[in-house]
Amino acid sequence: MQLDAKIPGGPISEKWDRHRFELKLVNPANKRKFEIIVIGTGLAGGAASASLAELGYHVKTFCIQDSPRRAHSIAAQGGINAAKNYQNDGDSIWRLFYDTVKGGDFRAREANVYRLAQLSTHIIDHCVAQGIPFARDYGGLLANRSFGGAQVSRTFYARGQTGQQLLLGAYGALMRQVAAGMVELFPRREMMDLVVVNEQARGIIVRNLVSGELESHAADAVVLASGGYGNVYYLSTNAESSNVGGCFRAYKRGAALANPCFTQIHPTCIPHTGEHQSKLTLMSESLRNDGRVWVPRTAGDMRSPQDIPESERSYFLEEKYPSFGNLVPRDVASRNAKAQCDAGRGVGLTRCAVYLDFTDAIKRDGMDVISRKYGNLFDMYEQISDESPYETPMMIYPASHYTMGGIWVDYNLMSTVPGLFALGEANFSDHGANRLGASALMQGLADGYFVIPYTIGGYLAGTSLEPINHDQAEFRSAAKAVEERIRKLMSIQGKRTVDNMARHLGQIMWAHCGMSRNADGLKKAQSQIQELKGEFWQNLLVPGSDKDYNKSLEKATRLADSLDFAEVMLMDALTREESCGGHFREEYQTEEGEANRDDVNFCHASVWEYDGEANPPKFHKEPLEFENVELSQRSYK
Ligand SMILES: Cc1cc2nc3c(=O)[nH]c(=O)nc-3n(C[C@H](O)[C@H](O)[C@H](O)COP(=O)(O)OP(=O)(O)OC[C@H]3O[C@@H](n4cnc5c(N)ncnc54)[C@H](O)[C@@H]3O)c2cc1C
Repeated sequence: MQLDAKIPGGPISEKWDRHRFELKLVNPANKRKFEIIVIGTGLAGGAASASLAELGYHVKTFCIQDSPRRAHSIAAQGGINAAKNYQNDGDSIWRLFYDTVKGGDFRAREANVYRLAQLSTHIIDHCVAQGIPFARDYGGLLANRSFGGAQVSRTFYARGQTGQQLLLGAYGALMRQVAAGMVELFPRREMMDLVVVNEQARGIIVRNLVSGELESHAADAVVLASGGYGNVYYLSTNAESSNVGGCFRAYKRGAALANPCFTQIHPTCIPHTGEHQSKLTLMSESLRNDGRVWVPRTAGDMRSPQDIPESERSYFLEEKYPSFGNLVPRDVASRNAKAQCDAGRGVGLTRCAVYLDFTDAIKRDGMDVISRKYGNLFDMYEQISDESPYETPMMIYPASHYTMGGIWVDYNLMSTVPGLFALGEANFSDHGANRLGASALMQGLADGYFVIPYTIGGYLAGTSLEPINHDQAEFRSAAKAVEERIRKLMSIQGKRTVDNMARHLGQIMWAHCGMSRNADGLKKAQSQIQELKGEFWQNLLVPGSDKDYNKSLEKATRLADSLDFAEVMLMDALTREESCGGHFREEYQTEEGEANRDDVNFCHASVWEYDGEANPPKFHKEPLEFENVELSQRSYK
């Protein structure tokens, strides 16, 4: 496999403009001759479908949910970054670029990150034009707040519902094109396979989740915007239907996976309370603008927070990282919270929590101000925990939240299968080994609104595409393979439910490939997953029929992929013998317990190519070059 990132030449600030000029164009009258499949209606897929249809392409859009509006993006809370510098506090495209490269622990591609920072400013203009009700300051200008890993305020927000508002904007743009007949919408369809013809992505097989029927759809290009794989840990902040299936099916058809072990554990989630839970709830990072993180100084202190005097509290982030304080990036905040709990200073019933305290902020700014900023998050917390954060500190603990790994893409967002593009959280993205807060919405929308409309045109204009028919041999054989897989799952009729096995997988991954990893644990997880896989294929229980709405079957097809994917994650984590960002290998840490990168041996993206069921995947490297930001030890002190 040849990995060519296709990074344009020239100075970094001119690469994208130059590339856009050099890309071939599709004549407006010819665009209507092309059909494009988009999988996913989150911010990346919704934005892509709307923009491509607006340009004149015929688009077929697929999603799992009953409505495009229910994509997981709707849950995003805190905000979206953009280098507008409305605050006049020193922000710039360069600073956003720099913060993102550094925040990702120097494991992202410089050219992509710079383009992302450039496009961030257009996103805000675009969304304001759509009518997104971003928060405004006293004078009527758009307001900003800070997020982790930055010392400027560049996060645009709509209370704690930014994703919801942005997705409604993308949904509006999408439905306009549905009404215009340019987008054909297929809700409740799950992509079960990618169809490759003459080494080009030419279609998909989907399962109608209501009737159970398999359908074949052909196109000239396929855009995969199916989101992240955080649910491999079972308990996560992701929507239940977030899954790795789309990406994993593409991987098995030749699309390489990059950095699958780079996962993000978010520091501020409502702690888990017991076996009954299937989800964890995020408390937005924006809360760390005003909330102070602390634990009792003495291990095992069981007093209620109000009874612990200031002198007996450890504001551990403020103490250890005076420059960034509570706004250190997520990987750093998560690891430190874990360390406090591991040392016995955790709070709450399980002792696996730290406080996030708003007492000082309420005293300083008043209840009204805090309520205007975070009211809906406080209400959500109270509904779940039965405690009011206005009166008593929140309890928080890290949880699986975002995945930086995904489908390897070049500068055009094209995978190693020509004609297959991957956008948003589904690609291995611009965030390196750790994503900074409020950067996922930025990337998904940049990919969908501003990158793919250009790069897909370059592909279509420069490629010869044979006429295609969704009934030809490649489609029939892919559909047959899907049918066979479903038949196999239905016929096991064992004793363990899918949820039970998914929880088991999650426990293995959380224990050994979570906030910190080591070689022994990773190897142990490999053998535990082998065992679980064996049991899955012999003792799984899928009740009901495959010709009907069957939630267990849906989950089973996804879990089958997650089990295989988890093995690639573990292999990736084992191979990367360094610590960087969210990938913390205990063997590689500095004396102060920070991530110890190895730029001599690991300054690359790790890329995995499927090599058949009988073989381990083939390993490739995309070397990363840093010409504009100097490689240095990340410090937030
Ligand atoms: C609780 C929470 C809060 C967050 N808050 C923020 C924030 O404030 N700021 C920020 O920048 N980021 C935030 N994030 C991250 C951000 O929301 C996501 O990374 C982003 O929304 C992902 O968008 P997406 O379009 O790539 O995928 P998604 O929104 O996950 O959409 C995936 C789409 O693909 C479809 N799909 C999946 N698999 C298939 C398949 N096999 N076949 C057919 N369709 C399929 C789904 O139906 C869905 O439509 C948050 C994440 C969480 C969990």
